[in-house]
Amino acid sequence: MCLFCDIIEGKIPSTKVYEDDKVFCFNDINPAAPVHVLVVPKKHFDDIRDIASADDGQEYLGAVAKAINVIAEDKGLGSGFRVINNCGEDGGQTVMHVHFHVLGGVKLNEKIL
Ligand code: AMP
Ligand code: ZN
Repeated sequence: MCLFCDIIEGKIPSTKVYEDDKVFCFNDINPAAPVHVLVVPKKHFDDIRDIASADDGQEYLGAVAKAINVIAEDKGLGSGFRVINNCGEDGGQTVMHVHFHVLGGVKLNEKIL
């Protein structure tokens, strides 16, 4: 059982922001900024290492990049935004289905680098 697979399949409700054949994007349930969207490949990959090593990983990463830009445009994030991927235990990943946080709608100051 995977929480994000269930959301993609509609078994668990979410607020959809964008979808194409490769990605499903929805609002984070615990937003850290006025805009906080999760960009999630429709195929289950555990994390960025898993997607990078898969034969079809590049197609999914390309779709992720496109989705991020469509969302940024739709949400009016022309002055900037941040994309975060937490990978594995030390990276703070809590849902083990690869996803990219798109944060914006405010000046983001909590930089660690
Ligand atoms: P991470 O800690 O990088 O693995 O991110 C997991 C994210 O999933 C967190 O920001 C959670 O708030 C979010 N999340 C957990 N459950 C749900 C849910 N049912 N719907 C939307 N977002 C969720
Ligand atoms: Zn999954």
